[in-house]
Amino acid sequence: MVEKPDVGELAPPNRTLMGPGPSDVHPRVLRAMSTPLVGHLDPSFIDIMNEVQELLRYTFRTDNQWTIPVSGTGSASMEAAVGNLVEPGDTMLVPTNGYFGDRMASMAERAGGEVVTVDAPWGEPLDPVAVETAFDEYSPDVFGFVHAETSTGVLQPSVPELTSIAHENDALVVADTVTSLGGVEFRADEWDVDVAYSGPQKCLSCPPGASPLTLNDAAMDKVLSRETQPRSWYLDLSLLEGYWGEERAYHHTAPITNVYALREALRLVAEEGIEERWARHRSIASALKAGVESMGLEMNAPEEYWLPSLNTVRVPDGVDDGAVIEYLLEEYDLEIASGLGALAGDIWRIGCMGHSARAKNVSYLMTALGDALTEQGAGVDVEAGLAATSDAL
Ligand SMILES: *Cc1c(COP(=O)(O)O)cnc(C)c1O
Repeated sequence: MVEKPDVGELAPPNRTLMGPGPSDVHPRVLRAMSTPLVGHLDPSFIDIMNEVQELLRYTFRTDNQWTIPVSGTGSASMEAAVGNLVEPGDTMLVPTNGYFGDRMASMAERAGGEVVTVDAPWGEPLDPVAVETAFDEYSPDVFGFVHAETSTGVLQPSVPELTSIAHENDALVVADTVTSLGGVEFRADEWDVDVAYSGPQKCLSCPPGASPLTLNDAAMDKVLSRETQPRSWYLDLSLLEGYWGEERAYHHTAPITNVYALREALRLVAEEGIEERWARHRSIASALKAGVESMGLEMNAPEEYWLPSLNTVRVPDGVDDGAVIEYLLEEYDLEIASGLGALAGDIWRIGCMGHSARAKNVSYLMTALGDALTEQGAGVDVEAGLAATSDAL
């Protein structure tokens, strides 16, 4: 006999989310998610799809016709990009300077591609000279890079330089903008990026479930002239074209509620203004950075490639990074994260994304972190940190 389960009413704790995502969701987005469902082919939903596409183009800074939310999390839009662009026998160049370049490599390999790498240490961006050298050595068909590396808190500068190297070599460029879209300056068209994908639960402050993707005509030409079908039916863009393109025919049932949520999250982006939103992330995260530095802590990324949406702070000697994370969660209902891979144990990762990029959140975080570090007996100047943050705010 399978017993009847005794499960109580859903009551998750009320956290403040300052980790690498998800970020705090705006109340308007939560309200949008509680509105009634319509069918995925309902004329009213077709209008909503068009609006979401228009809002996505605004946010990506692109005129690309082919701009859609992919059903699934950021990894789904990532796999749609890589799995459609890379054909068996193609070579894809990927970076080794963080966790998500490795994920790109796994996806390219599963798509039947040959993976080659351009190296940089974890915690540093790619050097255009190294990218050029890799192109000379391997002549890849596709070049992927991570614009905002969430594992290291590094922003990839000089994107137009990278895309021009790739285009001089007839390769297509795929950008991971999961932790930059809607939070950090990114311009798909002006920077000549062929394909960019993102996720909703980082700087867009929307629950995971429908993930932005944009492709220009050159990329879509390649996708539509493949000799072999992509290995995934679900993420085959030539089939998704039937639903998101002119025809609006059934492919799979869109996650209606997530599309509502994304629409509202993107409406908030447009209301604020994309450039104003980039500026807000920068100024709020600067206050966080000023505070931790004045406490006597060190940021892992130098100013030139500091990523405002994801701040990596070095764990001081003698402090247990995990104990601080636990203390913040238990005492303050506040989420931050530890380092990954090569940086495990060395850094904390503090997100400053979307609705979490607010003065209120940063003040709260600084107070809580100061307390946690005092508790750990770290030799930090909490007063100076709090003063620097409040001055900056
Ligand atoms: C979070 C993240 C992803 C993956 O997104 P999921 O929503 O977790 O599937 C990919 N790339 C980067 C840079 C990310 O931060």
